[in-house]
Amino acid sequence: MYEINADKKYAVNLVTHTCSCWVWQVSGLSCSHAIAAVDHRHQDVTEFCGVYFTIQIYHRANSLPFNPMPDTLELQDIVYGRQLQGEPRVGQRSNARAIMS
Ligand SMILES: [Zn+2]
Repeated sequence: MYEINADKKYAVNLVTHTCSCWVWQVSGLSCSHAIAAVDHRHQDVTEFCGVYFTIQIYHRANSLPFNPMPDTLELQDIVYGRQLQGEPRVGQRSNARAIMS
């Protein structure tokens, strides 16, 4: 357990990978307070990253093949948001088609 004095005091626990600023818990990446504590112990800061930021997980996530998306995606009969008063209904439009590029 470390107490890091920056603009405020932050409690860093290297065992549970937590800091009182909450950046470490939320992002999975070590915050500057945790890095200061790890540096004080002369350890490698990459050992304290979340498992999802490792090269092994990156390779595993991208190891599965995936099909490329088409250049133009035609979306038909999809209503976005709520209908405003006075605005014609989607079905009343002659060309109710959204094209995303
Ligand atoms: Zn912190």
